[in-house]
Amino acid sequence: MSKLINVTEIFGENVFSDKVMQERLPKKVYKELRKTIDEGKELDPAVADVVAEAMKNWAVDKGATHYTHIFHPLTGVTAEKHDSFITAPRADGTVLMEFSGKELIKGEPDASSFPSGGLRATFEARGYTAWDCTSPAYVREDAAGAILCIPTAFCSYTGEALDKKTPLLRSMQAINDQAIRLLKLFGNTTSRKVSACVGPEQEYFLVDKQKYLKRKDLIFTGRTLFGAMPPKGQELDDHYFGTIRQRVASYMKDVNEELWKLGVSSKTQHNEVAPAQHELAPIYAEANVAVDHNQIVMKVLKKVACQHGLQCLLHEKPFAGVNGSGKHNNWSITTDDGINLLDPGKTPHENIQFLLVLTCILKAVDKHADLLRESAADVGNDHRLGANEAPPAIISVFLGEQLEDVLEQLISTGMATKSIKGEVLHTGVKTLPDFTKDATDRNRTSPFAFTGNKFEFRMVGSRDSIASPNIVLNTIVAEAFAEACDVLEKAKDFDIAVHDLIKEYATNHQRIVFNGNGYSDEWVAEAERRGLPNIKSMVDAIPALVSDKAVDLFAKFGVFTRAELESRVEIQYEAYAKAINIEAKTMIDIAGKQIIPAVIHYTKELADTIVSVKEAGAKAKVQSRLLDKTSDLLEAAEYALDKLSEVTSIAAQKAEGEEQARYFHEEVMPAMDALRMPVDQLEMIVNKELWPMPSYGDLIFEV
Ligand code: ADP
Ligand code: MG
Repeated sequence: MSKLINVTEIFGENVFSDKVMQERLPKKVYKELRKTIDEGKELDPAVADVVAEAMKNWAVDKGATHYTHIFHPLTGVTAEKHDSFITAPRADGTVLMEFSGKELIKGEPDASSFPSGGLRATFEARGYTAWDCTSPAYVREDAAGAILCIPTAFCSYTGEALDKKTPLLRSMQAINDQAIRLLKLFGNTTSRKVSACVGPEQEYFLVDKQKYLKRKDLIFTGRTLFGAMPPKGQELDDHYFGTIRQRVASYMKDVNEELWKLGVSSKTQHNEVAPAQHELAPIYAEANVAVDHNQIVMKVLKKVACQHGLQCLLHEKPFAGVNGSGKHNNWSITTDDGINLLDPGKTPHENIQFLLVLTCILKAVDKHADLLRESAADVGNDHRLGANEAPPAIISVFLGEQLEDVLEQLISTGMATKSIKGEVLHTGVKTLPDFTKDATDRNRTSPFAFTGNKFEFRMVGSRDSIASPNIVLNTIVAEAFAEACDVLEKAKDFDIAVHDLIKEYATNHQRIVFNGNGYSDEWVAEAERRGLPNIKSMVDAIPALVSDKAVDLFAKFGVFTRAELESRVEIQYEAYAKAINIEAKTMIDIAGKQIIPAVIHYTKELADTIVSVKEAGAKAKVQSRLLDKTSDLLEAAEYALDKLSEVTSIAAQKAEGEEQARYFHEEVMPAMDALRMPVDQLEMIVNKELWPMPSYGDLIFEV
């Protein structure tokens, strides 16, 4: 067996944690810094200098040579530039290791090459990274040595957000302010801060690195663009929660060890539904830390895979025909003194504060379903949402039997007088313990499900940052809280007013509640009757960001300005067009240079065989039929390839932005599907030795 891990010993050993700060900072400085972290108090530059020095000494003790400001530009992944701690050589030729408060607080990467959607022209290249002291710094070890990583936000010279972190922090502020207001109305005088907490479950695929390297589609686009289904897929459900293969288990062990050292509380691991698919879930944390940690998780998953001769695929749909990967974003709102606002307690019908919070969330999700949908929009996610596996593209809320019953009582009689209780689970086996079941079963098909004391937003793509969905969730719920508080703060009789408000929200927004099967066609029809939006693709989702409703919402809470939203729209359209362009060009490349030549080779072999069989006096009927069939498919493939090349060149001529993105969606994507069809059929005919790349079977069953 490999080396055993002492988890409590290694956990957080590479994190500049509260414990390290207490040990290494003068008491007064520590207290000042905590005030900034906990209460948002402005940081004194003198304090920053002391913190920087302590942080550097700690990092250097761990072998660090460089530091970096980690930021989240609008590319979906993090970015970093490394600077070493060395000073200019002194007169005697030696150097010192130094790090100032200024360097800790502010960085200035050349920002001109990051997407800014017109917010910043190349001649105004200044962008700043600002230390986010609420997310701990850490030392990362890799082939580059050890590097002190400082989480930051990234803004333009004029203060506009160029990243996902800044608006996330703004949205956390918004929900904090409004939730505190709401709690005060219920007589809470002890909670000082309310945080959005997030636990993201991360799905991923693992394939053999050598096979991966033979697939240009995986290399360039992260997903397979061709590939016939193997005889077996996921129909037996024998992979889900199945025994983890030894090679994968040893990978997971190393992933966990690395994550624990970095203070990421990796908790759950299991095989997922599709062959070669797995999941990792950490324990939930405050939203900004969760967002940073999720980026670390994705990086570590990829890095450790390389060390094991594996490749980790984070794409939402690496393989057609089996499940894609998502990220379930578990979200709740919790006070600094440990009250979870989404905890219904045993008798939710009596928990007025909970019912108000719940109905506010229903109102928020109903009003801004389009924004929530947009927050999960991603090129790869178009293959999942609404594609009969992950949640449908229609936003609805699953509440479960107990809460739905409470709401029904409220709506029909104006009073909720009872809550369905969780019954005792009887297994019928004496030796098994009987225990109380949850009051509600689970529903796997809902995009937004209440799961006991949190909501689980299941639409998010596996490769995407979880920042956007949490920005939207925090802000829309802050708005609903604010509107409720506006009414309740003026009310003469609070009890009556809150009761009326809960009833009003429950009644007006009951259309968003759906407890049935989200994958069924009936639901699509029913949702249409209810007037719920069914936004099927990323290009259709993007405009929601700049509707008047969205602009007002984000402006009211200072999360995004109109200019910031408009820039994000532009970036999204561009990202879509670029991604599909790469996919189309990759298909053209593979079909033209690898597949068609291989099929021609095969037809030649067949033709030669036919000649020799006939010379031997037989009829070669099967060989001739196969040759005809293959030649027909080859012709179809070549025709589709020409068509794809044509529309891809036309797409390049289109005006950048919505027009181009739509053209890629409406013309190029179908042309890609049309090329894939004959090629996948050919894969089933052509001799395996001649096929130029590993098959689906090779990739997902032989890890
Ligand atoms: P599932 O059974 O839905 O797959 P997992 O155990 O894989 O659940 O993941 C559940 C996730 O929800 C974990 O990341 C967990 O820490 C997180 N979670 C649990 N409670 C809360 C909460 N109150 N707020 C936010 N996230 C939570
Ligand atoms: Mg899970």
